[in-house]
Amino acid sequence: MTLLNAELHINVSILKENICYLKTRIDKKSNFLAVVKANAYGHSLKKFVEKLDDYIDGYALVRLDEALQVRDLSKKPILLMQGIYDDDEAIIAKRNGFMCVLHTQEQIRTYSRNLENKNIWLKVNTGMNRLGFSEDVLTDLNLLNIKPSVLMSHLASSDDLYNPSNNKQFKVFNNIFEKYSDIKQRSILNTGGIINFPEHAYDWVRCGIGMYGGFNGEENLKTAITFKSKIISINNVKKGDSVGYGGRITANSDKKIASVYCGYADGFPQSIIDGTKVMIGEHEVPIFGRVSMDIVTVDVTDIPDIQFGNWVEFWSPKNSINKISNNNSFISYEMMTRIDDRVKKVIYED
Ligand SMILES: *Cc1c(COP(=O)(O)O)cnc(C)c1O
Repeated sequence: MTLLNAELHINVSILKENICYLKTRIDKKSNFLAVVKANAYGHSLKKFVEKLDDYIDGYALVRLDEALQVRDLSKKPILLMQGIYDDDEAIIAKRNGFMCVLHTQEQIRTYSRNLENKNIWLKVNTGMNRLGFSEDVLTDLNLLNIKPSVLMSHLASSDDLYNPSNNKQFKVFNNIFEKYSDIKQRSILNTGGIINFPEHAYDWVRCGIGMYGGFNGEENLKTAITFKSKIISINNVKKGDSVGYGGRITANSDKKIASVYCGYADGFPQSIIDGTKVMIGEHEVPIFGRVSMDIVTVDVTDIPDIQFGNWVEFWSPKNSINKISNNNSFISYEMMTRIDDRVKKVIYED
């Protein structure tokens, strides 16, 4: 039995090319951690590890269950980027040799209570004001119980080369690093940092979106996934008729409208605006009407040989996910991680 479904095709060759390109940006001595949280940004965590383990130096994630899945498949270093939240998690982290970020006093206490204290990444707040110890708190912190091996922070605006916050954050970060001479290694860059500030790569970079091709404004990185589904119906719509829920859009001439077997339940956002371009073969066609739970409607008037069963590609290596995200006030990160489990995943190399 084959069931009709929306499909997500993951191109391993492009992931490899993106990783290789990103590595050329930074010093060879810097370790490349692949950020694979949230199911490798929707790219299938297990497949990622199986296919790309040789291309990277380690993994960075948030959830412990995902870190354990990676550990089953790889012996490489694994970083828990937000640390552990109770004794059980601390014990699991240590037993599996995970490197562990500590960003609150509570985490330090929990971590110190359990087994040996090593592989610690101390997270400091250098200006993002979300997670981590601020410089002033650090000075009265009793860090004697722990010996961090890596000092870590995160940039708020790394994708913006000209934002002055970046240099402020580097300055605060390096001041702290100089004060704590027992901590030998540093990590601050994500993808935006690798592209814009590679001189700060230090000992470890933490690269996510760039590997998947979702970083804006870097031509060398390509979208690694094709998200597509098939046309299930083609209807003639008369001038003056409206299409879909709420009659959001009205045809200003006679049109052919195709309904595609995919909707917001698959992860194609309901709020996608009319006119957003998707691909049918070599043709660009606009979204026409509000996205429903299981159907997307597109205007196919200009494609003469359009047929039931034709594939409609929402994004692909040829049609960057950044274009559709930017035109719809989304970020590529969110578009990638919205894809629902029910969508059929296909992994391939070309
Ligand atoms: C998600 C995350 C990253 C990766 O960021 P990208 O922009 O996807 O490269 C790096 N560091 C931390 C702390 C993160 O949470």
